[in-house]
Amino acid sequence: MVRVFVVNSGSSSIKYQLVDVVSEKVVLSGLLERLGQPGGDAADHESGMRVVLDRLGSEAASIAAVGHRVVHGGSVFTAPVVIDDAVEAGIQTVSALAPLHNPANLAGIRAARLALPSVPHVAVFDTAFHQSMPAAAATYAIDRAVSAEHGIRRYGFHGTSHQFVAGRAAALLGRPLASLKLIVLHLGNGSSAAAIDGGRSIDTSMGLTPLAGLVMGTRSGDVDPGVLLHLQRAGLSGAEVDALLNSRSGLLGLAGSADMRDVTAAAAAGDADAELALDVWAHRIRHYVGAYLAQLGGLDAVVFTAGIGENAADLRARALDGLGHLGLAIDADRNGAPSREARVISPEGAPVAVLVVPTNEELAIAQAAAALVA
Ligand code: ADP
Repeated sequence: MVRVFVVNSGSSSIKYQLVDVVSEKVVLSGLLERLGQPGGDAADHESGMRVVLDRLGSEAASIAAVGHRVVHGGSVFTAPVVIDDAVEAGIQTVSALAPLHNPANLAGIRAARLALPSVPHVAVFDTAFHQSMPAAAATYAIDRAVSAEHGIRRYGFHGTSHQFVAGRAAALLGRPLASLKLIVLHLGNGSSAAAIDGGRSIDTSMGLTPLAGLVMGTRSGDVDPGVLLHLQRAGLSGAEVDALLNSRSGLLGLAGSADMRDVTAAAAAGDADAELALDVWAHRIRHYVGAYLAQLGGLDAVVFTAGIGENAADLRARALDGLGHLGLAIDADRNGAPSREARVISPEGAPVAVLVVPTNEELAIAQAAAALVA
């Protein structure tokens, strides 16, 4: 029995799970919120972690390792690492690339190392899996001196999820991951696509930041960078453009709600804005499926995961609509059958498999930490 304590530390919250990596069961889980705010669960991350330890009680003694979710590993971290002071410094160094997330992750790491000093702590990075991308996919065509100075390149995110889901997809297909060409569509509140060749990420839709790519709950995904310049010339500040693209775009901007269930309900009721939002959402997904089919030079499976990908059969069908000529088809009965398990939804004998594979980032972090300290 190996138990890993998984910590996801935000600027004002600490989410945690104690995971048994053998049974894959969650032993316990919880959340501290509004850290440092009046009426919040704790004054800061350090006192918050003492509250968490208190809640763990006697279970704390069973922890073999602590796994920390870290958003940005820059070009420094290409895999999970055991945390020491040098790793903390490295996470600090790349904080400029994720100014909202990395400092919060680091606060959680420091607090947890103080609270649980006798077990190894492991950092698992959202970006690490995508460090295998070839330079052609990672490089933006701007002045290379500027890129070098500011660390500008495609990093990609959701890597822990993409890697986990790819592994489960291979198990479901009964084939070695090393032999498979996969497109994983992580469609949640945040969304990204990844092209995975032989278990390695070769391209992904998020970029320097998690703003690029697919249409998300509140994020625009891809726009002409000239849109930013045009708006700034029209008088919007940098902060206003930031808020527009990160917080008031995507489904929210197009249809008035960031929650896909609201958007599909509105579209079903005849709302034209919601219908267009779904069309834009699906159009963007097909754009990436086509691109990644070309980059992979073949395709064994398309894999749907995350809140929308796992739960919305109608949207899975909508996303791949019209791709039958590429061998991509969905069986209506299989797609519509309710299930929480990994499953095949393409017709029997289809040239490309279409799968639904539930993601589990906490389990993936726990497994990565357990593997590293074993
Ligand atoms: P996060 O990125 O916050 O982890 P999730 O992966 O939980 O997000 O996905 C949240 C999204 O999934 C929301 O837009 C929600 O509306 C959507 N979703 C969940 N269940 C359904 C469903 N049955 N039909 C359509 N959308 C769904």
